[in-house]
Amino acid sequence: MSTGPDRTHAFPWQALAQTLRGPLLQKSDADYDKYRHVWNGAIDRHPLAIARCLDAEDVRATLQFATREHLPVTVRGGGHNVAGLAVRDDALMLDVGAMNRVEVDPASRTVRVEGGALWRDVDAATQPHGLATTGGFVSTTGIGGYTLGGGVGWLMRRCGLAIDNLIEANVVLTDGRDVAASEQKHADLFWALRGGAGALGVVTHFTYRLHAVGEVLAGVVFHPVDAAVDLLRVFREATRHAPDALTAMLVFTTAPPLPFLPPEAHGQRVVALAYCWSGEPAQGRQACASLVDWGQPWGRHEGVLPYAAWQQAFDPTAPVGDHYYWTTSQFDALDDDLIQALLPLAEKPADPFSEVHIHHLGGAVAAVPHAATAFSQREAAFFINVIGRTGEAGRLAAVRDWVRALRTTLAPYARAGMQPNFTTEATDLDAGTHDPVTRSRLAEVRKRYDPDGLLTPVRSS
Ligand SMILES: Cc1cc2nc3c(=O)[nH]c(=O)nc-3n(C[C@H](O)[C@H](O)[C@H](O)COP(=O)(O)OP(=O)(O)OC[C@H]3O[C@@H](n4cnc5c(N)ncnc54)[C@H](O)[C@@H]3O)c2cc1C
Repeated sequence: MSTGPDRTHAFPWQALAQTLRGPLLQKSDADYDKYRHVWNGAIDRHPLAIARCLDAEDVRATLQFATREHLPVTVRGGGHNVAGLAVRDDALMLDVGAMNRVEVDPASRTVRVEGGALWRDVDAATQPHGLATTGGFVSTTGIGGYTLGGGVGWLMRRCGLAIDNLIEANVVLTDGRDVAASEQKHADLFWALRGGAGALGVVTHFTYRLHAVGEVLAGVVFHPVDAAVDLLRVFREATRHAPDALTAMLVFTTAPPLPFLPPEAHGQRVVALAYCWSGEPAQGRQACASLVDWGQPWGRHEGVLPYAAWQQAFDPTAPVGDHYYWTTSQFDALDDDLIQALLPLAEKPADPFSEVHIHHLGGAVAAVPHAATAFSQREAAFFINVIGRTGEAGRLAAVRDWVRALRTTLAPYARAGMQPNFTTEATDLDAGTHDPVTRSRLAEVRKRYDPDGLLTPVRSS
């Protein structure tokens, strides 16, 4: 739905534009369309205006303007959220994407990052020191939304979720106050920021703990889809006792014409094992052997490479502007019944680009007590993301039906709840991402820090 000019012109935009260091974009501005669009091409919303903030002062001015004018605000970080939470019709978009500076302190092994940075910005600064912290499975995701939703990735089983490495967050609140939240200061806010999925204030800086991560042993092994049942069982066993340095996933996908795959594999449905061992490589070869060397794969591509290079390896699989619909389910076990139920749909997607990702958790993720953060899914042993994707808008409805059918099929085996980072459905975002105790605690903290609900999302599908 687009907003009419009357509503747009009802606000004193000129006053805000004069206060900001960054540009204020309105519908008539050339860049308006560029910044209202997010990664998911299925999202087509028109904010009243876009404040492209350059620093905390711009953030404060934008929030104070919105409070005065009773305008709802959405925050745009990396713009990667599949539900398009960064943009809403008839709201003011506060875009922190230009705030992407990264300061590394190798001595204290910490990194302080502005709230609009992407994971590739962080890695570019930390990897020259042989350091990293848990970021996404791809490098183009924004650190902001990712961290506020928990943050799973290649390093999580050794280093914890992104939120487990968060030491401090600087937050501009809707009343204009700029507060530092940590275990010691505004501990209620700090708890809620870690997994609560945002809508508490605008985080201008995240400070994370870093770990010694230089080169990793990593790769991808493509199996024919006929091997899926056995491979899933091998994955289940291997991950049960896997050292924390290993994070792996199985991906039902359609084989691209990669040079290390034979021509007969190209375009076929396959199951790919992708893995990352962030410990000593020689140990990894031994520790991963039962999983990585299993079966008669169609092809493989592996090696010892810089962590940042591995994190970028899957970037091309998630192009900006395609049409996406995702869901996620969490599990205590990968039973044979679940495997049998999953296969028929995973093998035959509504669009060849659509995928099913099977992840394991455990390790450092499970070591943190449930109530320590607002992330509700630490105890799950596995989670399955159904990644509906199509390049053609007209096929999205069929893709969405396929994703929903898979979710319904998996539901009898799943735990309650889900990770907010992989959720598209409005009802899930409102009620499904946190257990009831966490949800009501989050509501109390939100009432304290954003009493007028300026940042409260209003869902549109
Ligand atoms: C290709 C792809 C790969 C992904 N891989 C992973 C993965 O490996 N692990 C994982 O956990 N998730 C992953 N995700 C999910 C991702 O973490 C979430 O979609 C997350 O919301 C993206 O953050 P963003 O800043 O890019 O998003 P945006 O769309 O900009 O924002 C998402 C939400 O976060 C809020 N927000 C963002 N920045 C700030 C800030 N500075 N202050 C306050 N609020 C803010 C926004 O208001 C909005 O509500 C992936 C997503 C994509 C598209």
